[in-house]
Amino acid sequence: MAKLYFRYGTVGSAKTLNLLAVAHNYESQGKTVLVVKPAFDTRFGAQDVVSRAGLRRTADLTLADDDVPTGDVAADADCVLVDEAQFLTVEQVDALRDWTRHIDVPVICYGLRTDFRTRLFDGARRLMEVADSIEEVKTTCIDCNSKATQNLKLMDGVATVDGPSKQLGAEERYVPACFRHYQERLALARLATQASMASGGTGI
Ligand SMILES: [Zn+2]
Repeated sequence: MAKLYFRYGTVGSAKTLNLLAVAHNYESQGKTVLVVKPAFDTRFGAQDVVSRAGLRRTADLTLADDDVPTGDVAADADCVLVDEAQFLTVEQVDALRDWTRHIDVPVICYGLRTDFRTRLFDGARRLMEVADSIEEVKTTCIDCNSKATQNLKLMDGVATVDGPSKQLGAEERYVPACFRHYQERLALARLATQASMASGGTGI
């Protein structure tokens, strides 16, 4: 039976670059890959799988929340690669789990573990529960050389835990942070807001 892999990491840990490299390796050997992504991620166009380093390719299959794909679509693939896997639903992860058994194809999922409030994404939780292999794709904190474990959300450069967790792109930016700097940046932002309100400002 082929394996289900979850390769998780923070933003900026080159997960998509890693995915594209794996795809390239398979294809340079004349093999076929199926690149899958949840349709939610529309940062760069719903069909495109894009790394922050600028490389991209078009996804072979995009999944809306209520799509639960059968294995037929992966029948000819030597490997299935999933980008932004944190946005998969539990049912979709379970379907991918079945693919490894019924059509004996390895499925490698790349995604975030937690959102900017330190909470597990549904897709990440299910992958943690059922994957054969869980591997961390590492990068360093934006403020020090420790390993980043958190995704810090910045609005106009200021740390925040506000807004929906299923939001991508636009003005906000996500950066990798160690837990210490994740907390420190949020504490500083709270102090700045309090100081602004105390001096008669709106706090915005
Ligand atoms: Zn740090």
